[in-house]
Amino acid sequence: MNVIIMGPPGCGKGTQAAAIVADWRVVHISTGDMLRAAVKSGSALGKQVEAILTAGELVSDDLMMDLIRDRLQQSDACNGWLLDGFPRTVPQAEGLVELLAEIQQPVDAVVSLEVPDEEIVARLSGRLTCRECGHTTNKSALNPATGDRCPQCGARALYQRDDDKEETVRNRLLVYREKTYPAAATLGQHYPLKRVNGLGAPAEVSQRIQGALAKATH
Ligand code: AMP
Repeated sequence: MNVIIMGPPGCGKGTQAAAIVADWRVVHISTGDMLRAAVKSGSALGKQVEAILTAGELVSDDLMMDLIRDRLQQSDACNGWLLDGFPRTVPQAEGLVELLAEIQQPVDAVVSLEVPDEEIVARLSGRLTCRECGHTTNKSALNPATGDRCPQCGARALYQRDDDKEETVRNRLLVYREKTYPAAATLGQHYPLKRVNGLGAPAEVSQRIQGALAKATH
């Protein structure tokens, strides 16, 4: 199964992506994770994109197309994938449609998680990420007994990503509405587009997504 998941920053995409990957046993291809790993490793790519990520801007379409072309042709990508964070613009969506036709990979569904802006700002400015295992949680959800420890791995490594600061969040949302939201419609011209309500508990949202995917794959 090949699925593309889209949604504004902080819509719960990371959590839902992890659930889909576990349930459907597909590889998780997250361009944000790939870019953050490049920054962390200090590679040439990392140096090139670091300031862009910190500002919440988008990396150039050409660079992203090269990255995804390479990734989708690695051997583990032939048994199903979940694409997360790509495409982010209409040109990327068009490039992806062309690439997938060329390498003969179908798309079963495009899941677009829909969450209103005010909810996103509230969620994201409280989001903490674990430096050790990548788990994300919210300040309001931390257990006072365990304090600042990561609820998943226990490390004292929770921090606020630079791009989760309120001003950057607002900029990322603007970028999302202007550039990424229209890219979902472009994909919808080629693949089944499932708009899913992203409000509510993660388990509820997960059920909605499972329902949409079950329909798309039968
Ligand atoms: P994410 O973890 O998906 O929110 O991505 C974090 C950051 O990486 C974004 O704010 C962008 O700066 C960059 N990024 C990730 N995917 C893309 C993409 N497809 N196109 C351009 N920039 C991207």
